[in-house]
Amino acid sequence: KARQSHLFIVQYEAGWDEDHLRRLQLFADFKEALINEEICLHYQPKVGASDGSKIGAEALIRWMHPTFGFVNPEEFIAVIESAGQISLLTRWVIRAASMQAKQLWSQGHQLRMSVNLSALDLLEDDLPDFIRKILQELELPPEALCLEITESAIMQETERSLANLNRLHNLGLMLSIDDYGTGYSSLSQMKQLPVGELKIDKSFVMDLDSNEEDRQIVKSTIELGHTLGLKVTAEGVETELTRDWLIANGCDTLQGYFYSKPVPARDFHHWLEQYLQR
Ligand code: C2E
Ligand code: CA
Ligand code: CA
Ligand code: CA
Repeated sequence: KARQSHLFIVQYEAGWDEDHLRRLQLFADFKEALINEEICLHYQPKVGASDGSKIGAEALIRWMHPTFGFVNPEEFIAVIESAGQISLLTRWVIRAASMQAKQLWSQGHQLRMSVNLSALDLLEDDLPDFIRKILQELELPPEALCLEITESAIMQETERSLANLNRLHNLGLMLSIDDYGTGYSSLSQMKQLPVGELKIDKSFVMDLDSNEEDRQIVKSTIELGHTLGLKVTAEGVETELTRDWLIANGCDTLQGYFYSKPVPARDFHHWLEQYLQR
């Protein structure tokens, strides 16, 4: 392709390394990838612990690049963030995930769809209004959406991001602290946030079966979450043993390969039908 040979000349002249070129190429291609559906969403169930009947979903972005193949979302999100274009991607994700939620709701599955935000999204004053309009357009109640924000993003909190979190909360959206345990947020910080869910990072959950230290950490995190009045979700639930331990220890919601990997919308529908008939 002409585009690629152009970049090759740039590399030759400036001596950039392969990695830098790859990032440039990803950035050059991403808008087109959104349009021609190389980028899509996959969905992973979030299962209620009590009787397993309350189901939600998390939307996770996927990019199948024509020359690079599958690109890890953390890699290209970092590229798009540093190019100052993340809000474009986030809005595409929110729209696509909301449309999927609408389809599920109209089939009688009133589930909550979770979407991941980047730290930079919280600096955008018009994000709350963008979401309000989408919900209105699709005739979806705010309970249909949840926004997941990483603990480290929340720690970069500014007056502006806190104001935006409050505005999102006031729309009636559920807010969730993602990757909990990987940052160092303080209790006083946690207390003032308008969040309803805490997600324990999968690094503490994946080895629960064999690791007593992780069990202690997860146990006290569940207690902490409940003390703060939050629902606690564990991600990275891979085994039946882990599931049973989490349920016995009061965890509210479970997510992980034990139930399903993130899958395309059609497969998620299929999983849901099967699961509800179990
Ligand atoms: P995350 O939000 O913490 O998402 C959970 C990650 O754990 C996903 O990786 C998921 O596939 C993986 N996972 C779920 N269950 C299990 C399990 O049982 N075992 C293991 N080993 N892994 C499990 P994925 O899809 O590669 O996404 C990586 C990260 O990329 C996400 O972490 C999130 O930070 C980011 N990301 C994905 N989609 C979006 C998006 O639309 N917007 C933004 N801003 N970030 C996104
Ligand atoms: Ca997440
Ligand atoms: Ca997470
Ligand atoms: Ca993560």
